[in-house]
Amino acid sequence: MWDLIIKNGRLLTMDSTKELNKSLLIKDGLIADIVENNIAEKLDARKVIDAEGLVVMPGLVDCHTHLGEYATEGVHKTVGKSQKMAAISNYLDCLKSGITTLGEHILGHPVLSTTIGELKEAARHTALTVKFATGTCCVGTEPLAYTSALRPGRSITFDDLGDAHYAGLAVQSEFPGENIFITATVANLPTHLVPNGGKRILDRQDISRIVNIFHSIGKKIGAHIEGAENIEFFMSANGDVIHHGHGATPQQFHEMARKNIYLVATPHGGTSSAPNTPDEIYQSLKAGVTTAIATDAYLPVHPEAVGMDDIELVGPKDLFKICKPTFEYLHERGFSKVDCLKMITTNAAKVMGLDAEIGTLSRLKKADIIICKGIPVFDFTDTDSVLMVIKDGLVEIDKTI
Ligand SMILES: [Zn+2]
Repeated sequence: MWDLIIKNGRLLTMDSTKELNKSLLIKDGLIADIVENNIAEKLDARKVIDAEGLVVMPGLVDCHTHLGEYATEGVHKTVGKSQKMAAISNYLDCLKSGITTLGEHILGHPVLSTTIGELKEAARHTALTVKFATGTCCVGTEPLAYTSALRPGRSITFDDLGDAHYAGLAVQSEFPGENIFITATVANLPTHLVPNGGKRILDRQDISRIVNIFHSIGKKIGAHIEGAENIEFFMSANGDVIHHGHGATPQQFHEMARKNIYLVATPHGGTSSAPNTPDEIYQSLKAGVTTAIATDAYLPVHPEAVGMDDIELVGPKDLFKICKPTFEYLHERGFSKVDCLKMITTNAAKVMGLDAEIGTLSRLKKADIIICKGIPVFDFTDTDSVLMVIKDGLVEIDKTI
C-alpha cells in the first residue's frame, strides 16, 4: 500500500529536460519510485491524485528571504512578541505560493528582540523546510548602522564585531546566506536615508579573515555584495556564495564557475546598484555558474529592474513574476524551460546544501511537489495556478476543493 500516488501528470523532474508522462509513488514522505502510468493504475494507495493535463514538479526553493525578521516588522508592523506570529503568517504565504523550502536570514534587527533559538523554533512548527543563515548586517545610513543575529533588538558598532563574534555567527549558521555585508545595504529605505548604500565596509584582509573563520569550523559563507571590485575581494578570499552580485563582469562569471562559487541573483533589486539583468544571468549560466534566483522577500523593486513595472514590493507570491523576464530571455537563447526552472528548484537547493534531499523529482528524494495548471513562469505567473502543494508526502494546500 502506497501513501500517495500522483498519476498521469506531466512530470518535470528537473533531471531530464523533457516532460515525462509517468506516475509518482510516495511512501513515508519520500518519492519511492517513478513508474509508467499503466503500472500505477494497478497499485493501491491511501490517496490517488489524477494529474492528467497538469504539470507536476518539485516544490520551489526560495534560498534568500527575510520573512521571520525584517519582513515581520516591514509587512505586519509587529515590534514585540507577535514577531513569531507574523513570521508564521509569512511562511504560510510561501506554502500557498508553492515554496516548500526557505533560506531564511537572521541578521539582528534594532527593535525586534526575538532570539535565534526562538525564531528557529517557530519555523520548526511550520510545514516548510526552513534553514537559517545567521549574520551581521550593515545599513548604509549616516552614520552606518550595524546589527547582528547574536544581538537582537539593538544596534551595535563595527568594534563589537571581533573574531569571536564571527565565530559565534558561523556556529549558528545553517547555510551560506548573507552572513556578512561587504557593502552597506540600502535595505528597504528611501535613497536619501541611505547615503552610504553600496559603500564597502570590509577590506580585503577583513573578508579573508572572516571567510577563514567560517571555513575553520566547517561552515560555508555567503555575502551581500555589489560592485565588481568587491566581488573580486570575496572571490579571492575563497568565499562560497555571492548574493546579488550586481555589477559582476563576464570574466568574473568564469572565475566563479572555476572556483565553484555560487550566485544568488535578485533581478528585481536589493542593492544600490542596478540589479542583475536577464543578460547577466544568461552570462552566469553560460559560464557554468550554479545560479539561483530568490525573492529576498520582502523587497521593493529597483527602478532599473528589467520588466517588473507591475510589481512594487516582492513577496513570496511574486517569485514567478521576478523570474519571467529572465526565463523568457534564456528560453529565446536556447535554454530549456526546465533549465530555467532549476534556478528556483535544483540550483537553489544546491545553494542551501540540500540537493541530496530536494530540488528534483527523483527516487528517494523528499516528496515536496507542486501540481500546476501549466508550466510556471512560462504559462502563468499567478500563484492560484499552483493547484496543490505537497510537503513531505502530505497534501498541505489543495485549491481544487
Ligand atoms: Zn537579503
